[in-house]
Amino acid sequence: MTLRFTQNATDGPARAGTIETAHGPIETPVFMPVGTAGTVKAMTADAVRATGANIILGNTYHLMLRPGAERVAALGGLHRMMDWPGPILTDSGGFQVMSLTKLRQMDADGVTFQSHIDGSRHRLTPARSIEIQHLLDATITMALDECTPFPATEEQARESMALSMRWAVQSKAAFVPREGYGLFGIVQGSVFSDLRKISADALTKIGFDGYAIGGLAVGEGQEKMFSVLDATIPYLPAEQARYLMGVGTPDDLIGAVARGVDMFDCVIPTRAGRTARAYTSRGVFNLRNARFAADARPLDADCTCPACARHARAYLHHLFRAEEMLGPMLLTWHNLHYYQQLMRGLRTAIVERRLAAHAAALRAGWEAGDEP
Ligand SMILES: [Zn+2]
Repeated sequence: MTLRFTQNATDGPARAGTIETAHGPIETPVFMPVGTAGTVKAMTADAVRATGANIILGNTYHLMLRPGAERVAALGGLHRMMDWPGPILTDSGGFQVMSLTKLRQMDADGVTFQSHIDGSRHRLTPARSIEIQHLLDATITMALDECTPFPATEEQARESMALSMRWAVQSKAAFVPREGYGLFGIVQGSVFSDLRKISADALTKIGFDGYAIGGLAVGEGQEKMFSVLDATIPYLPAEQARYLMGVGTPDDLIGAVARGVDMFDCVIPTRAGRTARAYTSRGVFNLRNARFAADARPLDADCTCPACARHARAYLHHLFRAEEMLGPMLLTWHNLHYYQQLMRGLRTAIVERRLAAHAAALRAGWEAGDEP
C-alpha cells in the first residue's frame, strides 16, 4: 500500500481521517476544487490555498489534448506547472470523453475519439490513461472506467460495469507504485444494488489504494444517490479512503459524509461563482438579483473570505451587472471558501460526535433564508 489512510474519529458511519501522500497530508472528509485545464478557473494557486483547500483535481481529458501530457511532464509536472505543490487527483479521462466528444468509438480495449477542440483523433486505453496521469505526476490516479449513462437498463448497467472491472485490472497492471502515490478503483453499477456490490467486491479483490463511487450525480436524484451509497459503502474496505465522484451541493456532501464518504469533487462552487450564484449559510443567492443593488451588507456575515470581509453585496451585484471579471473571481473565491468551511465544520463535528446536530443546524440556516 502506497497511500496510508488513518481513521481518526467516527460518528456513526461518518469518519474523520488523514491520507498521507507524497505531497502532504489530506484531512478528510475533504472537498477537492476542480482544476480542469491546469487551473481552478478564476483563481490563482495562492487564492485556492487561502480557501483552505489542500488537494485539487485535474482533468486528464483536457490536459492530454491541451497542452498535452508529455508537455506537462516536460514543464515539471502538474504541481510545478500550476504552482500547486500539494496533492493532486486526476480523473481517468473517460467521463469527459463520453460527455464532451461527439465522434467516439468504444471497444473492449478502450475508446477512440475526436477532440472537441480541433477534431484531432486520440485513443484512450486503461494503460494510456494511467501513463498520462503518471506524466502529469498525479498524487492520486484514477482507473479508467466507463461512466454508465443514466438511465440504463440492468443489462446495460451490468455490461458497462463488467467492462469497467476489466479495465480496472488493466489500470492496476499499468500503474507504477511509488511511495505516497496511489491508484483508486471506481465502483459502477448504476442504481442497481446487486451490481454495485459485485463491482465493489471485484475491485476489492484487485486491491486499490482507495475506492471511488462513480456513475452518480448524472440525473438520478439525491434519494437514489444516497440509496446507492447505502448499498455500496458496506462492501468497501474501512482501511481505505472512499471518494464520491462529481458530487455535489452542500446538502449532498452532508448526506454522503454521514454515510461514510471521505472525498468529493464538483464543479458546482466554481461554476456557480462564475454565474453569480453564491452558496451561503443562508442558502443560495443570485447576485444578479435586483434586491442586492443597494444592499450594503456582506454577502455572508459568517464568512471570512475577501468577497465577504471587504465588500458589500451591492458591489458584487454591480460587478456582475457590469460584466467585470472580478465578479466571477470574488464569487468563486467565496464559494470555495464556503465549501472548505463546510468540510472543516463536518470534520470537527465528527471528532466531537455531534454530526447530526451540526447538519441539522446547517440545514436550518439554509431553510431560514436571507435576513430581510
Ligand atoms: Zn465569503
